[in-house]
Amino acid sequence: MTSDKHFHTIIIGAGPGGLACAAVLAQKGIDVLVLERSRRIGPKVCAGGVTWSGLARHLPDELVEKHFNSQHIRTGRQKTVITSPEPIISTINRENLGQWMAAKASRSGATIKTGTHVTAITEKEVITSSARFTYDFLVGADGSNSLVRRYLQIPVVHMGAGVQYLLTGNFTDMVWHLDPDQFATGYAWIFPHKDCASVGAYANRADMSPKVLQEKLHHWMAKHGMNTAGLKAEAATINFDFRGWHFGNRFLVGDAAGLASGLTGEGIYSAVCSGEAAARTIMDPVHKDVQLAKLIKKHRRHTRLLHLCGANNQFAQIILETLVAALRVKIIHFSALEMGE
Ligand SMILES: Cc1cc2nc3c(=O)[nH]c(=O)nc-3n(C[C@H](O)[C@H](O)[C@H](O)COP(=O)(O)OP(=O)(O)OC[C@H]3O[C@@H](n4cnc5c(N)ncnc54)[C@H](O)[C@@H]3O)c2cc1C
Repeated sequence: MTSDKHFHTIIIGAGPGGLACAAVLAQKGIDVLVLERSRRIGPKVCAGGVTWSGLARHLPDELVEKHFNSQHIRTGRQKTVITSPEPIISTINRENLGQWMAAKASRSGATIKTGTHVTAITEKEVITSSARFTYDFLVGADGSNSLVRRYLQIPVVHMGAGVQYLLTGNFTDMVWHLDPDQFATGYAWIFPHKDCASVGAYANRADMSPKVLQEKLHHWMAKHGMNTAGLKAEAATINFDFRGWHFGNRFLVGDAAGLASGLTGEGIYSAVCSGEAAARTIMDPVHKDVQLAKLIKKHRRHTRLLHLCGANNQFAQIILETLVAALRVKIIHFSALEMGE
């Protein structure tokens, strides 16, 4: 097999990280190829929550399923409702977001090949089952189980897991349930969409195995009158083991870089922010990305808090109850828990 074509930049993965990177590069006339193993861009196990401080304020209204100006937070001891004049979190359908981002990148001139699984990477080439492409720059936007990250020999130790059910119906409240007795350092959620809701739970795998997390979720749903009979559980990992994003002419973005929050599992904004930062750095090697620097700072803060809570259950109870009380009396803003500023 000989090389089929040379591209200035090849991006592996057409999730939000890869597509954001592709759009910025293509807008500047750079010859960019995105390779995506799935036939359809967008579908992904995800609750579809986007924060106002992150992505929500940049999205067109037609992409938003529901806006939430209030957040219902429950712990073992408190029940509180946080409100804000702007929507704190909005929900989007991942397939619609993916299609919208792909159309934007394509319109700008990016080549996107779907149904194309990258099976190997060399210093100069990206290899799929039917073709080889050479590159000047390579971007690994290939999610939690990144081939590019493995090629770069960067290990992954810190990984979260999320499990969800999609329940049909008109749900009105966005709910977070934080209780270390039930979900260790994680939480359960209800994220309402147009005519269904993502009901799920997230936890650091080191603090609770995915199997136990799912059992706890079942118990919690049953207690709140939600029935999983006949529904299929959807589960996936979330990499938050960040060890760098820029390695010479190769980059890692989003979940491949471990930039999702280990505390909340929020990763869509991290993917977009790091995808755009990688593109700007490819175009200008001395570019200093202020947004990404802020994101990395927040990521470190979230990881520190997570490890602090994970060290001791009673300690976690105290921290979480204090955190929620501080949110209630507005000493801290909800955005402290978000990845955006
Ligand atoms: C249950 C659950 C709920 C979540 N809820 C939220 C939420 O409400 N809000 C939020 O912000 N985040 C949430 N997340 C996290 C969020 O989904 C991810 O952080 C985000 O999708 C990361 O984007 P990405 O572009 O880095 O990777 P991905 O979205 O994972 O995209 C990677 C792409 O690469 C492709 N790919 C992988 N390997 C190859 C290969 N070898 N060749 C070609 N293509 C390849 C994949 O098919 C995929 O399309 C949730 C995660 C889970 C598991």
